[in-house]
Formats: sequence, structure tokens, C-alpha cells
Amino acid sequence: LAVEAEIIQKIRSALGCNPQPSTPWLRLGLGDDAAILRPCPQEGTSKRNKPSGGREWVLSCDAFLEGVHFRPDVHGPRDVGYKALARATSDLAAMGARPRFFLLNLVLPGSRTGAWLDRFLLGLREASRKLEISLVGGDTSRLPHVAINIMVGGDVPAGHALTRSGARPGDLLFVRGTLGAAQLGLGLIQRRFARSPRQEKRWNSLLAAHLRPAIGLDFGRWLSGDKPSGPKIASAAIDTSDGLSTDLEHLCESSGVGARIWAGRLPLVRIPPELKTLRLDPLQLALHGGEDYQLLFTVPRGIASQIPRKYQGVSITHIGEITRGPGIELVQESGRRKKLTPQGWDPFRKT
Ligand SMILES: [Mg+2]
Repeated sequence: LAVEAEIIQKIRSALGCNPQPSTPWLRLGLGDDAAILRPCPQEGTSKRNKPSGGREWVLSCDAFLEGVHFRPDVHGPRDVGYKALARATSDLAAMGARPRFFLLNLVLPGSRTGAWLDRFLLGLREASRKLEISLVGGDTSRLPHVAINIMVGGDVPAGHALTRSGARPGDLLFVRGTLGAAQLGLGLIQRRFARSPRQEKRWNSLLAAHLRPAIGLDFGRWLSGDKPSGPKIASAAIDTSDGLSTDLEHLCESSGVGARIWAGRLPLVRIPPELKTLRLDPLQLALHGGEDYQLLFTVPRGIASQIPRKYQGVSITHIGEITRGPGIELVQESGRRKKLTPQGWDPFRKT
């Protein structure tokens, strides 16, 4: 059984070199949070890739599957609808893009076309209003399990998109929000900690981190220099969908660099005393817990003082720095250093 990276490599070698990167309408193909396309140049104009004003399109797609990403016995249809669109749109945030439109490919069993579908659509509409992204098309089909595929499109000032490949040794590494909160929220749901409305209220913020990720669209656009319009601030970015250890490795690999992070600086989720019996380690949740949909980004040292400690009430934390590498080094609170191996989410990993 191949792991995810091997499968992507197979796809890339079978198809990835077509179209060529020099194709005038393609600025960035496979291998990032999203592809970047230029508006088609007019007939007769030069085919050379000259930098131009205007904006570029950013496109990505995401699958949200029953039995893999959510379970009908623990995840309500309204939350499923909200999260399906939020997690797809998170890739636009990671590119610093403004969301514009989405296409919905909805696969349902016949038994879910009534009340379940109504509530699913309610959640989807909530997300589309909140994220300011509009449905423009799609497809529906029938299968024994729910499968939601969403393609999102947004735009960004030409040349300003945040990619995974721009990090350089010496850049500082930051993360938005708290790490591991979504994994803790999932743990609460799975262990039936949030069964009654009263319990749900108590664990609200932890459940919300899992059910309704608050993605950083405005902050991403600020980092790309889109809102307000200005120079690009981040040198590289990725959204934390698979867990810090895995997402940081993706960023480092794309950029051809390594990284050093300090355990003592990570914005850990606070585990309430009542949940001590769960024996969850906040550091492990932060390093390897998936689905936070926060932004992990790098900034050249010379302009890093521009990064605020908070943006729209959400903490922005300096957690490390980019090195020549290879590999990621974790500096523990004792000062001891160890190599950090990616242990985040991989759909094809052997378990
Ligand atoms: Mg992503």
C-alpha cells in the first residue's frame, strides 16, 4: 500500500508535466494548496510570462467523506455542511486569496435526501454567507454513503499568492490560532463527552474548533498584501489541515529548507481540568493533531516585526525559524533537540 506522497507522485509523473509550466495561462500547477491561473492573454499578444497588474485565479478542491472525515452518528448534517465548505475554502486562505465561487459535487444515499439534506444545506448556506463565496454549479449523484466534493475559486493580486515554496533559511516561522484544538474537540465527541446540550455549551469552543473551523481569510489576504493592498508580507504559507509536523514538512520540502521549532512557544490548547482523565498530551495534539485549518507561514526576518501578536482577536505566534535543513528539529523545553518526524494525517498510511 502506497502512502499519500507516493500516490501523488504517481499522478504527477503520469500527468503532471502537461501543461508545461511555461504555458501562458498557468502560473502554478500541482504541489501547493491551490493552483494559480492567469486570465487568458489576448490572441496575438506575446506569450512570454511578463509580470502584469490585475489579479490571478486560485483554484483548489477538497473531498469530505462519510466514514473517513465525518461519521453520521456523531456529526450533525448542519455541521457537516458548514465544515465541508470551510475546509475547502481554507486552501484559498493559505494562498492569501479572496474567495469568489465554489462548485458542489454532492453524492448521497436515497435515505439522506430529506431532512438530512435540508439541514446539510442550512449549514452550507451559513458557511457560504460567512466566507462570502457563492455556489455557481456542480453535480449530484447517488451512492450508499455521503461524499461531498467541493471545488473553490478565488482571486489574488497578480504575483502575490502565498505558496509553499518561498521559505528561505533565516525566515521566521509563525502560526495563527491554537494548535490541537480541533483534535481535542473530535476526542470529546468520539468519547461522548458532549452528549447533552449543557455539556455541549461547556465545551463549545473546543467543539467549534473541530466542527466549524474559523479559517483566517482576512489574515491570509493581509499576508499576501491584498487587504489592504500593499507589499506581500509572508514568504511562504500552508494551512494546517494534516497536523503541524506533516504540514511543516510539506512547506519545508517545497521550499528546499529545514526548520527549527520550540516546543515551549507552541500555542497549545488548554485542556480543562475535568478532562484530565482523557490523558491527552497538549504537545502531541499540537504537533500531530489534524484539521485545525490555521495558517502556518514564514516571514523574512527583516520585516517580521510587522507581524502583530493578535489579528482580529486571534493569536499569531512566533514558533520557530527556517534552517538550511534538512529536516525539522524540535527544541524541547529542557533545551534538548530532537528530530521531528511527521506523524500527522495521511489517508493512505498503514495503521
Ligand atoms: Mg491545504
